[in-house]
Amino acid sequence: MNILVVGAGIGGLATALRLAKRGHTVTILEKHFQPGGRLNRLQKDGFTFDTGPSFFSMSYEFDAFIRDCRIRCPFTIEPLDPLYSVYLPRRTEPFHVFKNIGKFSHQFERYEPHIQDQISTYLAKCADLYNDTVEKVVKRNFSSVLDYLYTLLTINPVHLPILFRTFWQQVCRYISLDEARQIISLVAFFLGRTPFDTSAVYTLLSYVEFVYDGYYNVRGGMYRIVEGLIQELRKENVRIEVNTEIVGVEKEDRRITALIDSHNTRWEADIFVINADAAAFRGCVLNHRAYNEHRLRTFKWTMGYLTLYIGIDRKLPMLNHHNYFLGENYHSYAQSVLFDGHVLEQPYYYVNIPSKFNSECAPSGCEALFIVCPVPNLLYKPNWEDREMIVQRILADLSKRIGFDIHPHIVSKTVFTPFEWQQYFNLYKGSGLGLAHTMDQIGAFRPPNRDEYFANIFYVGASTVPGAGIPMALISSKLTCERIRHTQGDLQWND
Ligand SMILES: Cc1cc2nc3c(=O)[nH]c(=O)nc-3n(C[C@H](O)[C@H](O)[C@H](O)COP(=O)(O)OP(=O)(O)OC[C@H]3O[C@@H](n4cnc5c(N)ncnc54)[C@H](O)[C@@H]3O)c2cc1C
Repeated sequence: MNILVVGAGIGGLATALRLAKRGHTVTILEKHFQPGGRLNRLQKDGFTFDTGPSFFSMSYEFDAFIRDCRIRCPFTIEPLDPLYSVYLPRRTEPFHVFKNIGKFSHQFERYEPHIQDQISTYLAKCADLYNDTVEKVVKRNFSSVLDYLYTLLTINPVHLPILFRTFWQQVCRYISLDEARQIISLVAFFLGRTPFDTSAVYTLLSYVEFVYDGYYNVRGGMYRIVEGLIQELRKENVRIEVNTEIVGVEKEDRRITALIDSHNTRWEADIFVINADAAAFRGCVLNHRAYNEHRLRTFKWTMGYLTLYIGIDRKLPMLNHHNYFLGENYHSYAQSVLFDGHVLEQPYYYVNIPSKFNSECAPSGCEALFIVCPVPNLLYKPNWEDREMIVQRILADLSKRIGFDIHPHIVSKTVFTPFEWQQYFNLYKGSGLGLAHTMDQIGAFRPPNRDEYFANIFYVGASTVPGAGIPMALISSKLTCERIRHTQGDLQWND
């Protein structure tokens, strides 16, 4: 079969490799000038930055992917410990999130002597939730909403109350110290929302990050994942056409016969896999009424990101590899950041120093800094004329908190607002992680990985099932391939 994949994000690349390994002829069409999607790379002034993901969890999903494709892992991963460091106001030293719970808890014991028991009980609950749900709900396709709801009914009822709580409420039930609560609930931000509007169902991620797996770097930078996959795709003769944006389709009855790109070139195939946003593509390219602009606006989208790629001519030994800087007003900040640009007067942010582990990311004696500040997406903050003011606030705050003025040492600076994220990768309204993971937008309520109308269109990536993040994109590619296999019964499929 001839298969076209639209989008060379991690979801598109992984799907293309799985399909090519099964004997199909695959071509990838990518809008941007280089593959990777959000997992991209910026090279400037002698510095190399990963544009989006800076670490990942659920490494076993990579193992499963590698096994499925029968390849050797084309990049090297390195476990992190501490996983990350968190700077809280009024504390001179950061808290470190160590993999060892005793060591992690020890930092809080002078404020709350029972903290280790509290954290251990919380994590045991998260472990039960993970073990009872992930295989059943996250890693499978559903044939209908009824099938999904029926599956939910088969889950151990002991977890039922969790459905009615937020992440924050669940953490507060077990942990009494506010600072520990803030650190443990930070993972909700990794889902593009906040602990106050993310379901407690996602506390299963606490088990993954603290106990089951942890976080990993990739030696040489995260873009090595993309380079490794491209190398494997080449071996299977998969073509990647960059600077090719799909803007229209040709159809016959309930099948798509060709895609049309912005240069008016036709691309024919038997099957089309869309790695562009699964909701926005349905609305903007396929013109599905259920996803028209009005409906798209009513979905719940994740926050945007203001990202800074800074090169400085000094080393920063006082900073770890992954660092979070939080302010005084965690509750009100988190509750406003999705909708209200005013919170950016005192921004919260994350600083990654890729050159700590990968010396080739910066010239000798220099440091590469990647800073991410969660911000309202373009639905709530369409105007970014104040970008430089926000950037200066972040840099001033960082300089103050690490006791070193980085301003005079900046030799390279690039800024992406949600506007650039939208422009480069077609992220709807610059929403960093796509559709939010609210209960009414996950499982069978998320845009499915097969099209509702056209029999030969399928979807993969962050806004279809199961959701956002690198490991989820790998699971998504597996679910999409299974869907193609089941719906195209006569499809040749070499296992
Ligand atoms: C700032 C930031 C930090 C992040 N940090 C992490 C992290 O540390 N760890 C982690 O696991 N995840 C992280 N994520 C999330 C992770 O990057 C994404 O979930 C994942 O990369 C999404 O992959 P994808 O394949 O679904 O989509 P994408 O990466 O968005 O790929 C889709 C591709 O489709 C292309 N495309 C879109 N429309 C068209 C069209 N019409 N025609 C042709 N091509 C098109 C786009 O250009 C893009 O290349 C982060 C995201 C951001 C933005």
